[in-house]
Amino acid sequence: MYADIIVDITHEKLDKVFQYSIPSELEGALSVGTEVIVPFGKGNREMSGYVVAFSGKPDYPAEKIKPVLKKAEKSIAIESKLVSLAAWMKEQYGGTMIQALKTVLPIKRKEAARMKRKVRLLLDTEEAKERLKFYLDKNQKARARLLAGLMDQPEQEYELVTKKLHVTLAVIRSLEEQGVLALESEEMMRGLVRYRKHEEDTVHFNEEQRRAAGRFWEDYRRGIYGNYLVYGITGSGKTEVYIEMIRKVVGQGRQAIVLIPEIALTYQTVMRFYARFGDRVSILNSRMSAGERYDQMERVKRGEVDVMIGPRSALFTPFKNLGLIVVDEEHESAYKSEQVPRYHARETAIARGKMEGASVVLGSATPSLEAFYRCKTGDCTLLRLPARAAGQELPRVYTVDMREELKQGNRSMISDRLKELVRERLKKGQQTMLFLNRRGYAGFVSCRSCGYVVKCPHCDVSLSAHKGGRLVCHYCGYEERTRKTCPSCGSGCIGGFKAGTQQIEDIVKREFAGAKVLRMDMDTTKKKDSHEKILSAFSNGEADILIGTQMIVKGHDFPNVTLVGILAADMSLYSNDYRSGERTFELLVQAAGRAGRGNLKGEVVIQTYSPDHYSIRMAAAQDYEGFYKEEMRYRELMGYPPVSDLLAVLMTGADEKYLELAAGYLKSFAVRADKEKVLQIIGPASPYVSKVSDEYRKVMYLKCKKKEDLIGIKDLLEQYIEINRGFDCIKIQFDFNPMGIF
Ligand code: ADP
Ligand code: ZN
Ligand code: ZN
Repeated sequence: MYADIIVDITHEKLDKVFQYSIPSELEGALSVGTEVIVPFGKGNREMSGYVVAFSGKPDYPAEKIKPVLKKAEKSIAIESKLVSLAAWMKEQYGGTMIQALKTVLPIKRKEAARMKRKVRLLLDTEEAKERLKFYLDKNQKARARLLAGLMDQPEQEYELVTKKLHVTLAVIRSLEEQGVLALESEEMMRGLVRYRKHEEDTVHFNEEQRRAAGRFWEDYRRGIYGNYLVYGITGSGKTEVYIEMIRKVVGQGRQAIVLIPEIALTYQTVMRFYARFGDRVSILNSRMSAGERYDQMERVKRGEVDVMIGPRSALFTPFKNLGLIVVDEEHESAYKSEQVPRYHARETAIARGKMEGASVVLGSATPSLEAFYRCKTGDCTLLRLPARAAGQELPRVYTVDMREELKQGNRSMISDRLKELVRERLKKGQQTMLFLNRRGYAGFVSCRSCGYVVKCPHCDVSLSAHKGGRLVCHYCGYEERTRKTCPSCGSGCIGGFKAGTQQIEDIVKREFAGAKVLRMDMDTTKKKDSHEKILSAFSNGEADILIGTQMIVKGHDFPNVTLVGILAADMSLYSNDYRSGERTFELLVQAAGRAGRGNLKGEVVIQTYSPDHYSIRMAAAQDYEGFYKEEMRYRELMGYPPVSDLLAVLMTGADEKYLELAAGYLKSFAVRADKEKVLQIIGPASPYVSKVSDEYRKVMYLKCKKKEDLIGIKDLLEQYIEINRGFDCIKIQFDFNPMGIF
């Protein structure tokens, strides 16, 4: 017998299978996914690798084939089904097979309970980018280097960080103080938590819930394992529906995975699952040590777990008979991995479901365009939950045109309508949240008089203001000079859009003397736990007004909040990537959802310079489908996902001239490889952060209507890079349908 083995080296040039013979003492002991030790290369260095296939005959003369030495000690076999999934991920997202295999293996190695320190990034991509820019602007090189390192790989061992990135403990501590990273040790107890199943507390489903769960079960019972999208507003009872679906699947002797973004993985949510499924539930989270994760995976393998709940990585739980994968809040950008392979958990869940005959249920109040598009193409069944389960009314939404405010002589950041409503709340002792939408904000230029925004003529995204009065497109590199007057109305009110939470706090305090105000943003949440402290103070009624960035939007219920003010809805609308409209709609709907969660009806004020923009109109009307139609028209016209697919090729190198040259070669190759002329090639251009710890960066985008064609071109590019020594000194990464912009 012979085994095909992937050797554990992350290097494109060796990313292929090697054939080894299986000595008689190992016959029957190996299976697909087993980790083994093999002699490798000229010196027969002992390396580890994974078995990916078996065959009865040699591909080379038998005497040239080396034998497998042994099974790796303390190895964990990758289930053979997960090997197939890894192959799909490599194919789809690029990178090497070994990187894909390591991704689907939830724990790398059996962990003894020894102390090990690791450094973990706490910011999401957008926040990290902003931070990085800040350090670079301040010329804080060590901090920038550390953050950039963590952006490449969000969790790293302490020893590696200090050696590889040349940073001291003091630098790590300073970033810890600022809430950028956590320094964790794994000395925690590895005990299992035992929960007893509660009394069956049955919820009486409303009509829509019954229909949704019923439709799923009707298919499932007949062996139809499809994809479903539960589209229901927050509080419409989605989680109850998932629980019912899981109950049915588990009743059939199969298992379920529930993916929840880490921020939404709250104590309350977890307890709801424990209440229904007792200790046959297992939870993964990023705070757990490798040892704790290992314990949970052992329970899975012993068949003690029916339901695994966790963030992205829980998708690779090695269940024997997986029947259902739920992806809650499927629109969340946290589902996209930032490490190679840069997979999307939603898409990968659908692939795993198909391979293993499991159903996939996506859920969201603001579905991604990708998910809704699947429903339109018939690949996914739409299940609607249009009303709040407990019957509360939706808030009333007012849109205020800030251009009119300016005309009326109000130059303040706060409109007259909002002032009046805040005063009303102060009188009644109710609370207000003021939300400044800075997500993905990248310094666009607009006219306060007419609302005109300077955009790229080729890509239809906003230009970003750079030093020296340049405006730059981050897709194609188009540049122009900052203007003095508005090309649309001739007014001189054109300029960078500036607003900070600090500034708003000052204004609010001046305007509403005597009101108690709390502020939550990057500055006020630097210290550990300050995040929780601010929220609980607000929740306890210690303040009348909470001012904050997107941090305040998610996952918290304040029953006494009856007014939400969105101060500058345009900030995310004119961020510089094609998802800005979708992100704005999503944030506005979620922010609006904060108002009137208790028994009191809520009101929402959206302040904007572009009241006619469909993202804002549709969010004000809480009309997802109206938004979808308009947004799809834009994506179709410009060839953006989900209508087309977009591949980002990110190139990094120390020598700027050389990098430019190499990027040029890669582009000419792409042009030549594209024989059928199906590609649109954009760039190479400098990304948003164009230089990180002395490494220059370039990015090229490839757009294509047919996914298979794009993947074909990606394979050709990978081969071209592999055989050309010239690319050895630059790092090239692929990102398929990236969430933001580089
Ligand atoms: P979602 O996941 O859509 O936000 P949940 O499932 O968390 O919604 O439900 C919101 C609240 O309504 C929860 O407290 C839940 O227990 C309750 N709930 C859900 N369905 C019903 C129902 N049919 N009748 C009464 N209460 C319900
Ligand atoms: Zn103007
Ligand atoms: Zn452009």
